[in-house]
Amino acid sequence: MANKFETIAKDFPILSRRVNSEPLLYLDNAATSQTPNQVLERISDFYQTSNANVHRGVYTLANEATEAYEQVREKVAAFIHAPNAKSIVYTRSTTESLNLIASSFGDLVVNQDDEILITIMEHHSNLIPWQQLAKRTHAKLRYVMLTDDQTLDLQDFRKKLNEHTKIVSVAQTSNVLGVTNPIKLIAKLAHEKHAYVVVDAAQSVAHQKIDVQDLNVDFLAFSGHKMLGPTGIGVLFGKPELLKVMPPIQFGGEMIENVTQTQAKWQQAPWKFEAGTPNIGGVIGLGAAIDYLKAIGMPWIEATERELIERLLPELEQVAGLTIYGPQNVVQHNGIVAFNLKNLHPHDVATGLDMLGVEVRAGHHCAQPLMTTLGVEATVRASLSFYNSLTDMDRFVYAVKMVKEFFDRES
Ligand code: PMP
Repeated sequence: MANKFETIAKDFPILSRRVNSEPLLYLDNAATSQTPNQVLERISDFYQTSNANVHRGVYTLANEATEAYEQVREKVAAFIHAPNAKSIVYTRSTTESLNLIASSFGDLVVNQDDEILITIMEHHSNLIPWQQLAKRTHAKLRYVMLTDDQTLDLQDFRKKLNEHTKIVSVAQTSNVLGVTNPIKLIAKLAHEKHAYVVVDAAQSVAHQKIDVQDLNVDFLAFSGHKMLGPTGIGVLFGKPELLKVMPPIQFGGEMIENVTQTQAKWQQAPWKFEAGTPNIGGVIGLGAAIDYLKAIGMPWIEATERELIERLLPELEQVAGLTIYGPQNVVQHNGIVAFNLKNLHPHDVATGLDMLGVEVRAGHHCAQPLMTTLGVEATVRASLSFYNSLTDMDRFVYAVKMVKEFFDRES
């Protein structure tokens, strides 16, 4: 592992910088991942050699840009084992993908007295679009709660899922608890009640193999910037027959077949959802990120991150006054550890860690209903990636102890 790690770390130029005179230890991968040279170079190369607008013009550069843009769609489809490239819609982010489903598909299928079932561990971007849909349609928004072990309560899910449930929308991995939910089972149970299944894969796509056909989900959303790609590019997978009936929610260039003074006819999916000039450079970068992840190998990534978390959690648990949120079982934390130190504000802990070169998040992590359920306002969160090392885990625990000691001395 050490050799492969050293080679990998060299691909990420940012990892060699210093923060507050200390070597950077980046542990906010759940917020955004770092970008390897291979992705940066591909984007740069595109702008240097083939930059042109897509789907327009008959000249060489435009054709090259269009071909590259559409080839990445094939690549994304293969990466999540979608049935074809037409089931892949480019968006700006997970947030935009989820808003697109809620606004287009949601308005199409949800009526008064229907129910939308989400979970209490959702990120606001998989919560507020459904809250708004429920308000618009007078449907009921329901939440699956947690077990005592802070995992998804499947008994509660079975209880709340019923013939009124139209949509079930669940994060594959929680950005706070680190738990990965049993999506295949959830989809099977939801489909038995004729509900549609939406998956927020923002926190899983870079950490495990995803097969949308095996999971049998209707929609799946993720962001390029959490999987080594650039910001501003996201993906919505939708089953082709569902994308076909969904109306576009943005209108303008690129998404039409023809226009008269009074009417317009849309292109077929996915292009009818991609109004205006898209983030072409972002798409190119996303393609390079997928190539990079595939070359490293998703099974290796999964195994490496498991090894890291198994090193980190038992050590962190030993720190006096430290509470870890999420399941007791280490194996159920997928790369994310949210915690608090007794009598210390998470922002103070994160600021202290920053002084030691360690970058972690502190706050509500865009999951305020979950924070309320956990009985806290905020937590510190460390989230790792395969480019972190076992030494990084040891250094992190040491830094947490130093911060604690510093504040203990102060008080
Ligand atoms: N869902 C989850 C579980 C997330 O962790 C995030 C990002 N923190 C999002 C959705 C939103 O992603 P984006 O900001 O890229 O739209």
